[in-house]
Amino acid sequence: MARIHHTAKSTLALRRRKRFLLSQLKIFPDSLRASLVERFSRCGKGNCRCHHGGDKHGPFYYLTQCLAVGRVNKFLLKAATQQQAARQGIDHYRQLQEQLEELSQINAELLRREEALGND
Ligand SMILES: [Zn+2]
Repeated sequence: MARIHHTAKSTLALRRRKRFLLSQLKIFPDSLRASLVERFSRCGKGNCRCHHGGDKHGPFYYLTQCLAVGRVNKFLLKAATQQQAARQGIDHYRQLQEQLEELSQINAELLRREEALGND
């Protein structure tokens, strides 16, 4: 769910906030809409400790991406550098998404006040 932004401000303050948001918008080249999931699992060897009360193997890090209802793109990130790249890309995507969400909420409020949405 989207974070609710404070839009009970003067129209001038909203416009100022909107200008600031637009000036801050930046699309990072590594932007990634996904989740990083940590898993511990049992291996295929029946005599391994993981099948006899011992610790499971891991952590393993999977990148998961919901593409549509019931369609998920999921794969293992083996290297620590991949995992770090994923974390950063996910963070950049989330940041952009939050900025766009706030911009959208301000625009909805401006529209409700019968204000113009374009540049001014
Ligand atoms: Zn095992």
